[in-house]
Amino acid sequence: MQARQAHAPSYYAASAQTAPDRPVLSEDIETEIVIVGGGFTGVASALSLAERGHSVVLLEANRIGWGASGRNGGQVLGGWSGEGELVKQMGPKAEEFLWKTRYLGNEIVEARMQKYDIKCDYVRGAATVALNARQMKALEEEFADYAEHGMDGVVELADGPGLRKHMATDAYVGGLIDHRGAHCHPLNLLLGEAAAAEKNGVKIFEGTPVTAVDHGPAPVVHTANGKVSAKYVILAGNAYHMLEKEKLSGYMLPAKTYVIATEPLSDDLAEELLPSNLAICDSNWVLDYFRLTGDRRLLFGGRCTYSNRDIDDIEGELAPRMRRIFPQLKNTRVEFSWGGVIGIPLNRVPLIGKVSDNVFYAQGYAGHGVNCGHIVGEMFADAVRGKETGIDLFDETKHFRIPAADIVGGPMLALGMSWYRMRDALGV
Ligand SMILES: Cc1cc2nc3c(=O)[nH]c(=O)nc-3n(C[C@H](O)[C@H](O)[C@H](O)COP(=O)(O)OP(=O)(O)OC[C@H]3O[C@@H](n4cnc5c(N)ncnc54)[C@H](O)[C@@H]3O)c2cc1C
Repeated sequence: MQARQAHAPSYYAASAQTAPDRPVLSEDIETEIVIVGGGFTGVASALSLAERGHSVVLLEANRIGWGASGRNGGQVLGGWSGEGELVKQMGPKAEEFLWKTRYLGNEIVEARMQKYDIKCDYVRGAATVALNARQMKALEEEFADYAEHGMDGVVELADGPGLRKHMATDAYVGGLIDHRGAHCHPLNLLLGEAAAAEKNGVKIFEGTPVTAVDHGPAPVVHTANGKVSAKYVILAGNAYHMLEKEKLSGYMLPAKTYVIATEPLSDDLAEELLPSNLAICDSNWVLDYFRLTGDRRLLFGGRCTYSNRDIDDIEGELAPRMRRIFPQLKNTRVEFSWGGVIGIPLNRVPLIGKVSDNVFYAQGYAGHGVNCGHIVGEMFADAVRGKETGIDLFDETKHFRIPAADIVGGPMLALGMSWYRMRDALGV
């Protein structure tokens, strides 16, 4: 059997709080709900369910936070990916759902940090920035949308000089500052939530890949050395799991994306670059994003590769982009470089639904998983109680599916992304 893989060699892994090595499942057990995958979707769902008194087992193939959740940009941004498409297909009920849940993930995270004393360098404040007039117009429209929904106090439009008060660069023509958006150390948030889940009775097994699911009134998930029978199964393996191919394959193509973190900056330099400590992302399709960490490094992410191709020199690709925005970092060393797989559905609407009556899945938040993973946890916790949730909304959405995706998927996504990169380059 393949041994569990360690966390990616990231800044997060190097500064993670201590976490126990959880056991491998080695017997047959029963529970009410079994969850496959220990990222934000799996752990947040486990905690939401356990807090409501359900018995939960969580099976993780590697370590808690091994996937995208433990290596992402740490931006906790409001809203969902693919909102326009969801509203286009599902109409006003989708719009109502999206505005109602916009910052629900942020609220859950903030409440849990307080309730369970989770230390994860969480800071409120984010901004989406525009590289050209077309992007700025889109941000103005977004601002108008917030105002129409009575939330204009949450966001603030800034022109070039206005934005300059928040970041020491002339790279952008303006931006939309989001006072409810936030950033954090995602691995420490997740490890804190996993510990809280265990305090609430959740049993977590690591190094335990699930190999198959039997459906029926009492579904069973199989692993190499044991199985779990339950009333409900939640599949939360995101871009990594290969289960239920007949229903789930071909909708979401995994892309690799990359992050670097510099050495700690002096207090003066950190204050000069990002005086309001905002998390920034630009408006390109293939976007750059950055922020300060708790110990004042600049953490910078961007670039995407497909077809399982890796960038050989991550620092060589990303550091020049970072220094174009902040030439002040000319002599600053990069200390960490890593990559991760991000799940991007072809129409960008997350894939959330049911494989059968009691087997749920959620994956493919396309870069919004810190917030949305937590919202989905609440949705699942409501769903097992028979309550109305947004799951049907996503389940009924039509997604584009690539036949034989395993074979042609990578190149097709690469082609699509080349188109978007060209649009970014032309500013159209
Ligand atoms: C580099 C990078 C930067 C990103 N930046 C941001 C950001 O700034 N903000 C944001 O909101 N989102 C960001 N994202 C996206 C975000 O990280 C994801 O949407 C989110 O973490 C998904 O959480 P998840 O729990 O669904 O999946 P993951 O975190 O990927 O977890 C899935 C887990 O399931 C396990 N697993 C898979 N198959 C099996 C199996 N068969 N049996 C048992 N376990 C299994 C895996 O080992 C893995 O640990 C980024 C992603 C990447 C890669």
